[in-house]
Parts: sequence; C-alpha cells; structure tokens
Amino acid sequence: MDPELLKSAQWRQTQDGLAHAMGLSLITYGPSRNVDLRTSLCEPSRDNPICGLLQDRSGQRAQCEAHCGQQVARTFATGRPASFTCHANLQAFTVPITDESGVALVLLGGKAFRSYEDFFAFRETAQRYGVDTQTLLTLVKDIQFKDQSFLDSAAGLAETVCRSLVRNLTFRQRHEATAARLMTLFSIGADLKHQLDQPSLFRLALNTVGVLFNANTAVILTVDARGERLEYADGFGVKRDALQAYSSPIQKGLLERLASIRGPLFCDTAYDLLQAGFPSDVASAYLFPLASGSRTVLAILDTSLSAEDVRILDAFTELFSVVLENSRLRSQVKDRQQGLAALTSIMRTSVSALAVGDLFEIILDRSTECVEAEQASLLLFDTETNELVIKAIKGLNPKIVEAVRIRPGEGISGMVFAEGQPLLVADLETDVRVLRDKRPRYRTRSFISLPLQSHDQTIGVLNVADKVSGDAFTTYDLDLLTSIATYTTVAIQRSEYHRKSEELKRISITDSKTGLLNHRYFQERLAEEIERFKRHKLPFSLVMIDIDDFKKLNDTYGHLVGDEALVATARAIRKSIRAIDVAARYGGEEFTVILPQTPKRHAKTQALRIGHAVRQTAIHSVSGNTLHLTVSLGVASFPDDADNIGDLLLRADQAMYDAKRRGKNQVVLFESPSPPSP
Ligand code: GH3
Ligand code: MG
Ligand code: MG
Repeated sequence: MDPELLKSAQWRQTQDGLAHAMGLSLITYGPSRNVDLRTSLCEPSRDNPICGLLQDRSGQRAQCEAHCGQQVARTFATGRPASFTCHANLQAFTVPITDESGVALVLLGGKAFRSYEDFFAFRETAQRYGVDTQTLLTLVKDIQFKDQSFLDSAAGLAETVCRSLVRNLTFRQRHEATAARLMTLFSIGADLKHQLDQPSLFRLALNTVGVLFNANTAVILTVDARGERLEYADGFGVKRDALQAYSSPIQKGLLERLASIRGPLFCDTAYDLLQAGFPSDVASAYLFPLASGSRTVLAILDTSLSAEDVRILDAFTELFSVVLENSRLRSQVKDRQQGLAALTSIMRTSVSALAVGDLFEIILDRSTECVEAEQASLLLFDTETNELVIKAIKGLNPKIVEAVRIRPGEGISGMVFAEGQPLLVADLETDVRVLRDKRPRYRTRSFISLPLQSHDQTIGVLNVADKVSGDAFTTYDLDLLTSIATYTTVAIQRSEYHRKSEELKRISITDSKTGLLNHRYFQERLAEEIERFKRHKLPFSLVMIDIDDFKKLNDTYGHLVGDEALVATARAIRKSIRAIDVAARYGGEEFTVILPQTPKRHAKTQALRIGHAVRQTAIHSVSGNTLHLTVSLGVASFPDDADNIGDLLLRADQAMYDAKRRGKNQVVLFESPSPPSP
C-alpha cells in the first residue's frame, strides 16, 4: 500500500468520523521500524488529553513508547490485534489493517478508563509523575469511561472500515495510474505513425519503459546480420554497460522458448539467465518479443512489474512490433507507402484462395500502381507446350496478345525467363541487351521484365512498361517489383495447388462417364444421412433407378449409343431433382438418388418426376432413329423401411425389381409384407 494514501482527505475524514462515533481516540501508523509514537502517518483523532500530557514529558514518553509503541510494533510484526492496559491505566487496542502484501497499517485506538478504580489508580500514578491536581482536573471533562466489550466492538468496527477504505483507495490509485499510463502509451502510439527509423524507435520504446514502468535496466536486443545471434542494440540503466557486449545464440534456451511462445516471458533462475547470455549479477528478466520470431527483444532486468504492468507492456510491445516491422520493410524497399500497401494487399490476396484469373488481375493492378506504370503483362510457363503464355495484361488490347506464345529464350520475356535474371531497361534505344529484339511498341523507352521465381523454379515473367511520368524506371522500382514478384509467385503457386486439390477432390467423388457422384461417395453420403437422422430425426428416402431394356439398346445400336443413353439419363435425373438431393451412378445402368428430409409420402412425387424427365429425353442413333428411354424406380425410406444402410439399399432394390416385374417404366414404393396371420 502506498503510505501517501493516509494523507488523503478520505483517510482523514474516516479516521475522524470513526473516532467521534466511538467517542474514542484513533491513530494510524504506517510500517515504520521506529516505534516512536510521533511517527503516526496522520494526526491522531480525538486523542486522549492524558496521552498528550504524558508525551510532552520526556520521562513519561519513554513509558508510552514501551506500552503503546511496543504494541503497535508487535501488531505490525504478528498481524494480530491486541487489547492492553497502558502505564496510565488506560485501556487501548491495536488493530492490523492488511492488504495483499501483509500488514499495511496499524490502528491504535481506545485509550479509555474501564472503571473509576482504574481512574483513581491513574491519579496516584499521575501524582507520582508530578502532575498536579489542577492540571488533572482540566483534563477530566474529556476523559472517557468505556467497558471492555464496547472497546472490543470499536476495535472491530475500526478494522472493518479502515480495511475496506485501504482497498478502495488502492484500487482507485491503481486505476488512475493505469489510465495515465494508457493515455501516455496512446499518445506514443499516435506518434509512431510518424515515420521513424529503427534506432529512434528503439530509443522511444526504452524511454517509455524507463519513464512509465520505473525499469532498473532495459535493453533492446536484435538479431545479427546472419540471423543467428541476438546482440545489444540500445539500453539504459544500472547494468547497461555490462550488457553492451551481449551476444547470444537465438536458437537456444530462454530465447528459443520466447520465439515459440510469442508472448512475454519472465525468468528469475540464475541458470537460464546465464545461459541466455545475461551477466551473472542479473537476477530477473522480463522478455518481450518486439518483432516476429523474437528477432528483436525488449529485456527489462531486475525490475519488479505487476501483472497489470506486464499486460500493458505486452499490448504496447505488440503495437510496437507492428511499427518496427513496417519500419524494417520500409527501409528495405525504401520509403514508399504505396509500395508497402501493394505488397500487403498481394500478401493478403495470396492467403485467401482466389480464382486464378482474379489473382492475376490484382497482381497487375498492384504492380502498375506501385511503380506507376501504364502497361503490364503476366506470362506463365506451360510445362505441357514448353511455352510462355500470356495470362493477364493491363493497358494493352487483349486481341493483340491473345495468341502470343513465347518459347524460352525468345524475345525479352523469353530471355528473362530462360536466364532467371530481372531486366531493367532505362532506354531501349541504346541498351545493347535488347537491341537484337524487335522493338516492343512502348510509349516510353523504359521497361522492367522480371522472372517469377520460387526456390529453384521459374514459373513465369512479369513485365511493366510506360511510366506514367514518362521517366525511366529506377532500381528502386525494380526492388519494389522484385518484392511483389516473390509474393506473386507464392500466391500463384498456392492458388494452383488449391485448384489442383479441388480438382482431385472432384475427380475422386464423381463418375467420369456421367458426371454424377460415384458409388463410393454415394455410400459416404448415405452414411452421413443416417447420422443426421440420429441427430435431427429427419426421415429421408432412397430411389433406386434402372434403365429399362438397356441390354437391348446396347445390342441394337452399339455401346456408344448405350453410353450416350447413360449420359442423357444422368442429365435428366440431375435436372429433375432438388438442390438438396444427391444423385449418383450406382453402377452399370443403375442410378440412385438420396432425398434428404423426405418421408415416403413425398418421395413418390419426386420419383415420378424423375421417371417423367427420363421419358422426355431423346437420343439419336447413328442411323438417325430417335430413341426414348424409360426407367424403373424403387423407393424405400429411412427409418420406416430399414434401420441400416444395407437393408435400406436392399428394400429400394426390391421395390425397383417389383417395378420391373409389374411392366417397367413405373415407380414402386417398398411395402413391408404384412405379418403372417397365425
Ligand atoms: P432391365 O429392363 O430388366 O433392366 O433389362 P436390361 O437390359 O437393362 O438388363 P440388365 O440390367 O441386365 O442389363 C444391363 C446392361 O448394361 C448390361 C451391360 O452390358 C450394360 N452396361 C453396363 N454398364 C455399361 C456402360 O457403361 N456402357 C454401356 N454401353 N453399357 C453398359
Ligand atoms: Mg441393371
Ligand atoms: Mg436395366
């Protein structure tokens, strides 16, 4: 607890109010080692005049110290309240006021006579002390008589009230401090928008920590050029000098742990601290990562921070990391907001798997934006034809380049692709590297062409031309585009992987001939439907469909026409079902449809609709005959007809064969045979 709180008006008023309400004296002591009664942190309230009298006389004051003073000290030490009689026969109490760190204050109160006997006994003591009767008589009117139980309750009341006041005042004080710190941090955060270089940012972070958190020593450690060790960058405080030689491998002990947890870390074990490269007299360290992968670390040493301090610092360092990262990127691609925004946008694009076409367009938009070019094109290498193919263009008529195919090594793009080296041409009239090429029809005479590379692979070429200003492109433009090209390559590859995996997924669940779902996937869907029934109790139906006289069709018109009939039937089925229904090729010329959330009475309508759609379908034989198909359909429902997949399929099949038996081209619902009569 902060002893300053006792100087507040609230404390004064509370102590006075309590003393008056109890009709007793009350004094608060802070944790001073000195037992001198005059070290109370605020003026006594309603002090007993006898005490004032005695303490003015040095002989008696020693006695007061020995009684009240010792008792206050004891209560501080033990945390226990006490009730005692002093050398003047006054009855007093001490009460500890505790907070989370122990006894914060001690109240000394009471100082009343419990009886006339005690008072008379005091009169004799007073005479022995040489206090004359006249003086005593002037004091009598303020002397209190209280019995022990009153004093006990008074002590209890004083303790309760003061303890809650301490808690409230401390709470408020902390809140005010937190609010003040947050305000400061906010204003620093606002300042960070002004572009600062890295050393100034480090200084700012250190000043913040020093001023707001009273740090003993704080240093910023950053990764060396090889990315292997953390080294001293800047710092302040008691141990600053010893830390200037700091250097420690990043992949080890504490630092490695810090990189993996990404949050603040506290350490006060000598072994870990030594291993992390701190001088041996450092007893504790708070480590806050200041950049991704802990490549920059703020270390606050030998400083005690509250949990709240750590939380605030954590938020602050996180904010700071972003600023630092931006500053790093900025210095890398020099100081250009636009370029950064373009990079960020492409990075974001690569995360969400876009359609490749959109991605290309975004890449060209951003590329032209950040180097202020009017024209751009993106070419990708097609491994099947061994050619570079234009995938997207900007500022050029699509018709002109539609059919352009470039072999590696051919022209400027082909050369850049084959050599894997970017090309910045300031003036193509004079640049010998491109003189042999037929002059591209650019408005200005400057362009950049650079390979899209990842690892050891070149996947295409990005070209920009015609700077809006009419100037030549600079190496800075090239740097910027190189960064974009890196992300572009990753984005394209990602999107390609995504497309391929989607394609594979599609292939693995569809039947190649009809495009309907295949048997395996149908079984999965059926199992899912049964699971859904268990959860939501939604009945569903299954339709089994078999083409009528298919063998004859095959035999008469050949397999090709048979195949065509399969495709046409599949199309008719797909057309006639609802979006939630699931149609599959069950095998040969048999199909199934799952009708989710459809009880038997509604399933019949659906099945009839499918049969109708197939009848409407016409196919043509080579000889010009128009052929019509019919199907037989069997319907079974879950859970009415079966309680498992096998039985449900069997029942639908049975119903379908019933339809065949009854003359084909119709729908039959499975019906459970009525139980045999006894
Ligand atoms: P029903 O009306 O009783 O169903 O008579 P059906 O002729 O359709 O009888 P069945 O089911 O026995 O005949 C199925 C025929 O379908 C046999 C098989 O040669 C043929 N078939 C199975 N798969 C294919 C395929 O992918 N293409 C072609 N063209 N024919 C197939
Ligand atoms: Mg069949
Ligand atoms: Mg058949």
